[in-house]
Amino acid sequence: MRLFEAIIDANHRALAGDPNAGLHPADFENELPLVALTCIDPRLNPLLPAVLGIPPEQFIWLRNAGNIITGPISSTMRSLSLACAVKGGKEIAIIGHTDCLVGKTTMMELIERLRALGVERHLLPDNINEYFGTFSSERQNVLKAVDIVRHSPLIGPKIPVHGLLVDVGTGKLDWLVNGYQTLDTLSSRWQEVAKSAGHTVDALRSLADFNIGEMKFPETKIGEIVTRGENWLSEQMHQLGTQSPPVRAEPKPTATPPKIPLPPPIRPRVLLGRGRK
Ligand SMILES: [Zn+2]
Repeated sequence: MRLFEAIIDANHRALAGDPNAGLHPADFENELPLVALTCIDPRLNPLLPAVLGIPPEQFIWLRNAGNIITGPISSTMRSLSLACAVKGGKEIAIIGHTDCLVGKTTMMELIERLRALGVERHLLPDNINEYFGTFSSERQNVLKAVDIVRHSPLIGPKIPVHGLLVDVGTGKLDWLVNGYQTLDTLSSRWQEVAKSAGHTVDALRSLADFNIGEMKFPETKIGEIVTRGENWLSEQMHQLGTQSPPVRAEPKPTATPPKIPLPPPIRPRVLLGRGRK
């Protein structure tokens, strides 16, 4: 059994009441750590990675509002790529969730809410739908994200890319895209993708040149390009006449931190602990 076959099996058995349902991370050394992209919804905090049955130290957790991938060389793609190349991630999972508020908010509602925060429509990008990447179906959103990741020139043909949906009420996992199946046919398709992605790679290069000017790639550390980009962006913002908010000092930690009362569990948690051997 491969990693996600074992994860889905253990998750479903745990939900069916099997107290021994679990998985032994040692059996999946070659398939861990896992890189996951999820939404920012705080209801996911107690669920992951527990409902996957893998330990937190093997779970590289990326989050953005709505677990949206906007393009093959977007910022989130950059992080997914580095999670594999620098942090040793072996598989990628895009994990959507039920009842996602990003999916439920319409563009008109979003514009109204931003206006209430003092963000006027004319300051927002013209292609506002595309920019915020809003969606109406959580499943379709995951399928789209998996498709973009699989075809991104930043990932390559060796990393399985899965798509899942987690139920925020029960912790049940639904496997929408089996990354192992598609991986088998990917090597041949990769040649084609690599060719067709030529313009994408060029776009990436010109974007980098634009931001880093005379800096040379080999001597440049990854973060520097981003920093330059952010500086550039903040200069543009200043030219727009907008002011950065004043930096507030962090509150000083007190000797004994205030105790945070933990709410009672709102649902039977699916805890895939140490299962049988
Ligand atoms: Zn969400």
